[in-house]
Amino acid sequence: MRVAIAGAGLAGLSCAKYLCDAGHTPVIYEARDVLGGKVAAWQDEDGDWYETGLHIFFGAYPNMLQLFGELGIEDRLQWKDHAMIFNQKDDPGTYSRFDFPDLPAPLNGVAAILGNNDMLTWPEKIQFGLGLVPAMLRGQDYVESCDQYSWTEWLRLHNIPERVNDEVFIAMSKALNFINPDEISSTVLLTALNRFLQEKNGSKMAFLDGNPPQRLCEPIVASIRERGGEVHLNRPLRQIQLAADGSVASFRIGGVKGNEHLEVEADAFVSALPVDPLKLLLPEPWKQMPYFQKLEGLKGVPVINIHLWFDRKLTAIDHLLFSRSELLSVYADMSNTCREYADPHRSMLELVFAPAAAWIGRSDADIVAATMAELQRLFPVHFSGDDQAQLRKARVVKTPQSVYKSVPGCQQLRPSQDAPIANFFLAGDFTMQRYLASMEGAVLSGKLCAEVVSRQSAPVLV
Ligand SMILES: Cc1cc2nc3c(=O)[nH]c(=O)nc-3n(C[C@H](O)[C@H](O)[C@H](O)COP(=O)(O)OP(=O)(O)OC[C@H]3O[C@@H](n4cnc5c(N)ncnc54)[C@H](O)[C@@H]3O)c2cc1C
Repeated sequence: MRVAIAGAGLAGLSCAKYLCDAGHTPVIYEARDVLGGKVAAWQDEDGDWYETGLHIFFGAYPNMLQLFGELGIEDRLQWKDHAMIFNQKDDPGTYSRFDFPDLPAPLNGVAAILGNNDMLTWPEKIQFGLGLVPAMLRGQDYVESCDQYSWTEWLRLHNIPERVNDEVFIAMSKALNFINPDEISSTVLLTALNRFLQEKNGSKMAFLDGNPPQRLCEPIVASIRERGGEVHLNRPLRQIQLAADGSVASFRIGGVKGNEHLEVEADAFVSALPVDPLKLLLPEPWKQMPYFQKLEGLKGVPVINIHLWFDRKLTAIDHLLFSRSELLSVYADMSNTCREYADPHRSMLELVFAPAAAWIGRSDADIVAATMAELQRLFPVHFSGDDQAQLRKARVVKTPQSVYKSVPGCQQLRPSQDAPIANFFLAGDFTMQRYLASMEGAVLSGKLCAEVVSRQSAPVLV
């Protein structure tokens, strides 16, 4: 079967890879001149890479890890110590750690929480632990039922002091969906906590060893092309053309950079677009269908990714850090964490700026200045006195509509991969799968989509 796929993010690439595995021939059309969508990255005039987002891989990403295994690139994941490290709010330049010992789950998680006395008091730990019991015992059904509450509401329902938010969950909420606990659905936090507490290495983190388009996306493309599939850049889907029966007749593909327009016919059609551009392309007759109408409630959240290159080392920490700062979410010194960006003498900080709604329209200079002000608290020694660290250069990447904003009530709006159109299917992190809007969710959505496409094409045995 020939399958036309729009979008070469991780969902589209994974869908194509698994369609090849099932013996089909996928052809991907990507709007931009770069692979990867939200993991896209570019090289500046000095050869330094800058990225759409600082990306962390977790032990609790079975489909992503399987994909790395199938591509034979497991060694490109740089696993870090099993720990979560937070900046101390009231003691600038110091850190508080949750260290996970080498014990089975959930004992290692419990030991990590009990072992940290900087952030939570004993009564807070006990109350929070009791609050998590239903999630641990009743699993995902309970977690899904909590989608009616924000995380702050969920804490209140369980009599857990809101100070726990200030200490831990503002940081986690911003890291997971770039918004604060009073906005985020409690399902998001509970899903992550459940994975982290139930799987021994669930919260163990890895960095890719270099830029994602080359180190992750290109091996997927190679595996697709080896088996007769195609991947085309600068090829935006402009229109979904319908046949008389309401199914898809063709994808109208735009021509950019000298490319001709194309009218692509195929046996099946997949959108692996983010939800916001997909909504703009829905054919008029589909917009009345409940399956597509629900997409109106899913909207991309703004986020900003910042890169700061310094004239010296600011830290030797080889890990992700939770800033616990007003403007920033997580950050890392990529000169320590990532082989391709390694520099023994100078730091390159990659920082996620969130929530970003109030900042997405501001100038890069304003955003860098605000970030530098925050760094005075994170690295007080390097940004005070006579011999301060100097910023060599900066890059700001804004994504006005990134992953869908996971506010309460969104779970029921997420569509299955199987659209109510005979030959049309969806992939993308926003589609329904048991992981959140994440790289793992995108890869799994692509795999599920490939399964549905294959199932529909299989001859019916009588
Ligand atoms: C700052 C930031 C940090 C993040 N950190 C993490 C993290 O640490 N861990 C994690 O797991 N996840 C993280 N994520 C989320 C993760 O990047 C996404 O969930 C995932 O990459 C989404 O993949 P996708 O294929 O569903 O969508 P996308 O990556 O958005 O891919 C969609 C593709 O469709 C293309 N497209 C759009 N319109 C058209 C058109 N008309 N025709 C053809 N193509 C089109 C786009 O150009 C894009 O290539 C982060 C995201 C951001 C922005």
